[in-house]
Amino acid sequence: MILVSSCLAGQGCRYNGSSALVKEIEALIENKEAVMMCPELLGGFHTPREPAEIIKGTGIDVINGKARVVERSGKDVTDMYIDGAYKALNIAKEIKAAIIVLKENSPSCGSEQIYNGAFLGVKIAGEGVTTALLRKHGFIVMSESQFTAEMHEDQS
Ligand code: SF4
Repeated sequence: MILVSSCLAGQGCRYNGSSALVKEIEALIENKEAVMMCPELLGGFHTPREPAEIIKGTGIDVINGKARVVERSGKDVTDMYIDGAYKALNIAKEIKAAIIVLKENSPSCGSEQIYNGAFLGVKIAGEGVTTALLRKHGFIVMSESQFTAEMHEDQS
């Protein structure tokens, strides 16, 4: 079974209420080959919500208590991000996820890049909080572009 970010499957759960639909991922859900989840909704957030970024580190630093997740207005929301990450981990364990495909650039779901914490649209190398926790527990996490590239490679 595959675990995917809900927004990639077409759910409007991003901070601004939008989705990030990827047709191939929506098809996985329709074919019952994947389960979707949104770590931020699992952590208690609602849509729409303020954008948040990791400051002074990346997802693994947040898990290790060395960095924080903060909303644009300055509110510390680290605990909600960690709570959502552990709930996502429980789902991954329950369904024995073979692959996990998460939305790139998100402070929860990013797998190669996240924003740098200055709310200026600048990205740095690093993973989100949920991705870091899932990888720490041995799960394979990739971005939507990595997944679709591999899918199309397999089909060619
Ligand atoms: Fe999508 Fe992940 Fe953000 Fe939820 S937390 S909206 S699944 S990127």
